[in-house]
Amino acid sequence: MEDAHQLSDRYFKSKSFWAKPFQESILQMSGEENVNPSYLELAFENSCNLRCSYCSVFSSSALVADAQKFGAYKTSDNFNNIEQLGQLNKEKISPEDNPYIKAFWKWLPEIYSDLMVLRVTGGEPLLHKDFDQLLNWIKQKPNKNLLFSVNTNGSVPTEKFDTFLEKLKLIQQNVKRVEVNFSLDTWGAQAEYARAGLDLNQLIINIKKTFKVVRFSKIIILCTYNIFSVENFDEFLTNIMQLKKEALKNGNWLSLGISFLHYPHFLSTEVLGEIQRDKIKDSILFLKQNRLMPWRLNGFSKNERVKLERILASLQQLTQDRRKVVLKDLQIFLTEYDRRSGKSYKPLFPMIADLLDKSTI
Ligand code: SF4
Repeated sequence: MEDAHQLSDRYFKSKSFWAKPFQESILQMSGEENVNPSYLELAFENSCNLRCSYCSVFSSSALVADAQKFGAYKTSDNFNNIEQLGQLNKEKISPEDNPYIKAFWKWLPEIYSDLMVLRVTGGEPLLHKDFDQLLNWIKQKPNKNLLFSVNTNGSVPTEKFDTFLEKLKLIQQNVKRVEVNFSLDTWGAQAEYARAGLDLNQLIINIKKTFKVVRFSKIIILCTYNIFSVENFDEFLTNIMQLKKEALKNGNWLSLGISFLHYPHFLSTEVLGEIQRDKIKDSILFLKQNRLMPWRLNGFSKNERVKLERILASLQQLTQDRRKVVLKDLQIFLTEYDRRSGKSYKPLFPMIADLLDKSTI
C-alpha cells in the first residue's frame, strides 16, 4: 500500500486509541523490554462449522475434514494441503493439551489491567470452550478501559448464539465497550456460495438480534473482497445501508470494513484485470453517492470508502504468463469446490464463467 502511495494498515493501526498514546515511549525503547500489550488478538483453536472458499486448513476444522476426505486442490500451490498442518505440528493438539492456551490463562491476570483491546477470532470462537470460559472470566473481572471485540461467522446454532448474546449483555457493564464483527463478503446466493455452509437469512437474523442486545456499540461487517464479491456487490452495499439504519434505531453503529484478498491467488480479483477496476470504481461511486450526511446517517463514511480506494490504487497488472497460471488454478478450484459443495458457480457468476470460457487455458 505504501509503495502505491496509499495509507497502509500500520498507519491506521498506529493512529488507534490503543497505540497512539505509546508512540513516544516506544521510540525510547531498545526492543529488549518486556511490555504488557495494550492490544491482544486471540485465536484459541481452528474449530469452525463453515468451509469458506478462501479459508485454509489452519483456520477451519471443517476444511481439515474436507481435506482428509477429498485431498488437496490440484492447483499449482496444492491449495489446502493437509500435510502443511503436520509440518507445523498443529495436527493433533487438543485445546486441553495446547501449551499456548495453558500459558494464556496463566498470563491473562498479569496483563488484564493494561489491556485496551481484547479481540477474539478463530476458527469460530462461539464454538470454543475457552472462549466461553473467557466470557465467564470477564463477567467476573471488570476492566473499564477494555474494548472487548469478537469476530464471528454468525452462523452457529441459534441456541449457542443466544447464549453468547446473553453473556455479552452482562459483560458490557464490565468493560468500556463491546464490539461484534460479522464476516460477509457479498450478498444473496453468491455470499452463500463463497462461504460454504452459510445461511444468509440466519446470519441477518443474528445480526439484528445483536443490535437489540448490545448498547451504544459498534457492529462491523468484515468483507474480504474476493472474486465472488464482485458480481453482487451493489446489492451487498444497498443491504448494508439498510442494516446501518436498523443499527441506528437500536442505538448502535454499524460499519463496513473492507480488506482485499491476496491469497489464494486464484480467488483474488486481480485475475479479472480491467473488469475489476471498473467494478471497484462503480462501488466507490456508490459509496460517494451514499456518503454519510447529517440527513443520511446510514450513509458510508470516508474511512469506509478509503479502504476500497486504496485497493483500487494498489492493484497490480498480472503478467500474461502469471495470468495463465491463475486462470488454470481458478478453473481447477471451481470444478472441485462445486463437487465438494454440491453447487454450481456458472449461473451465479456469469462473468467468471465467461472469463474462463474465453480464456485459452
Ligand atoms: S467462518 Fe472464518 S474460520 Fe470459518 S471457514 Fe469461514 S473464514 Fe474460515
